[in-house]
Amino acid sequence: MRLVLMGMPGVGKGTQAMRLSESLGVVHLSTGDILREAVKAEMPLGLKAKDTMASGKLVPDELIGDMISERLARQDVGSGFILDGFPRTIEQVAILDRVLEQRGTSLDRVVLLGVSEQEIVRRLSGRRVCESCGAVYHMESKPSSKGEACERCDGALAQRSDDTEEVIRERLRVYREQTLPIADAYRERGLLVNVEGTGAPEEVFARLQAELVAA
Ligand code: AMP
Repeated sequence: MRLVLMGMPGVGKGTQAMRLSESLGVVHLSTGDILREAVKAEMPLGLKAKDTMASGKLVPDELIGDMISERLARQDVGSGFILDGFPRTIEQVAILDRVLEQRGTSLDRVVLLGVSEQEIVRRLSGRRVCESCGAVYHMESKPSSKGEACERCDGALAQRSDDTEEVIRERLRVYREQTLPIADAYRERGLLVNVEGTGAPEEVFARLQAELVAA
């Protein structure tokens, strides 16, 4: 299964992609996670992307293109992948087409997860992430039983630097202007599947699985 999972920031792409990757036995590739790792490790890629990420804007297509083509060339993507957070611009759609064509393969489905913008701001502003293992919590709907520490590894919970209200609004603007048009492009190709993203993660996952089986 070669899948793209798209939707507004905070719609639950990461959570659902993780579940799907387990159930389908394919790798989960999140460009946001790869970039955050590179920032944390102070790698050249991270240094180039850091300020742009903090502002809520998109890092240049060329940088993302090199990163993703290197990643898709690795052995572990042989049985498929779930792309989370990529492609995000029309140019990135073309980059992905080229990379897949070179590898003699193509996408099976593009899933668009949808929720209201109001719900997105609520979800993102309450989101907390473990600085050690990356586990995700929410102050209201999924608090850690250990307060400010991670239930899994006792690591410190922190707010992502781009989860403040001002940056969230900018990320949503960028999404509407640059990313939403790619849903139309995939719809025209007959690849797009719409899935309602409201409700508990397990409800959304059940819907997602049903749609993928039906599609
Ligand atoms: P995410 O975790 O997917 O919300 O990504 C966090 C930030 O990383 C975004 O706001 C962008 O600055 C950057 N980023 C992640 N994926 C991409 C992409 N495909 N193209 C450009 N920038 C990206």
